[in-house]
Order: sequence, then C-alpha cells, then structure tokens
Amino acid sequence: MQEDLFDVFQISVVSANQWYEIMRIGYGWDSHEFQTGVPLKIGGVELPHHKGLAGHSDGDVLLHAITDALLGAVAAGDIGSYFPPTDPKWKGANSVIFLEEALKQVRLAGYKVSNVDSTLILAEPKIVPHAKKIQARVAELLGIKPNQVGIKAKTPEGMGTDNAAIAHVAVLLEQVAKPAVPSKKVSDTKKSKTLKHRGRE
Ligand code: MG
Repeated sequence: MQEDLFDVFQISVVSANQWYEIMRIGYGWDSHEFQTGVPLKIGGVELPHHKGLAGHSDGDVLLHAITDALLGAVAAGDIGSYFPPTDPKWKGANSVIFLEEALKQVRLAGYKVSNVDSTLILAEPKIVPHAKKIQARVAELLGIKPNQVGIKAKTPEGMGTDNAAIAHVAVLLEQVAKPAVPSKKVSDTKKSKTLKHRGRE
C-alpha cells in the first residue's frame, strides 16, 4: 500500500518521518450578513435572491472559507493576511482572486487539492436547487472534478443567525512535488502579516 502510493506520487525515497507530509488537511470558516441591494454570490455563482452578502469584497462566504482552508493546510496564513479588509483595493473584489492566491500557495508548497467538503448554514435561499451549479463552479476554480467537491446546506435551527450565511470547509491536499520555497519561511512571513492585518475581509 505504502509503496503503491510512493509510485503514484513519484517519490523515490521517503523516510518514515516524512510519511505524514504526503497528505495535509485544512479547515476554513466564514460568515457574512445579508444585506439588500447587493447580489448574492456563493461558490462563485450568483444566486437569485432579494438580498446579497455584505462584505468588503463580493461577500462570497464559501470561496472565503475554501481560501482559508487551503491556506491553513499549507500553514501559509489566512485570507486577511493577503487581502486586508483595510485596503480599499479589495473593495467589491471578486473572491476568485482570493482563491487563486491560495491555490498558488498550495502549489508553491508542493501540493494539489485532493477533495473539498463544505457545509453552508443559512435560512434562505434554499441551496439544493443550485448545489450542482455551485459544485461545478468550485470544481472548475480548483481544477478538480465535481465529484471531488461536497456541497451541503443546513438551516440554522435554534442559532438565531437567520440574517447571515455561514460556511464550514475541510480540504485534503496531496503532495506532488518538493516545496518551491522553504515552508517554514513562507509560514513565518505570513504569520507576521496575519498579526498585523487580522480582521474580516
Ligand atoms: Mg469573508
């Protein structure tokens, strides 16, 4: 089993101490408040609804959570450290830009996305009629197949968050190459930026 995986990843010499580096898990979470007068974007898809999600960017709660999950998996900081909400440059920004930066950091660390799972929590609109479209778009953005993207949705029973959309995301990464830059250096740099710019995007 172990030898088969080494063949798949074309890793010729991997010591027992390096085994845990072959796969990495990441977790991301985000929330945004509903607001009238803005379009509703979830997973890079504009959904028909009378309210959208407020935010410094386009408020795409799912793409923000995926971005944080990807960055967390390679210990490369968080979304706010790359795109501080205090920077007017990112006002109304398409959240695809954030996701692309996270994917760049994943590639630099020598990984690719294996699969993503997500849970959206919102009172309305119902996600089920749009789930396939969101799944296809997220898969396209991540460069993986739709069957590698889980899109689930629940209503916030008893939570009192009916005017917000919340997203939880888990990602699994597979190592495919050596890191392009020392991971410790990337982590330290982003960590210091995170401390300076911590906040909502
Ligand atoms: Mg956000």
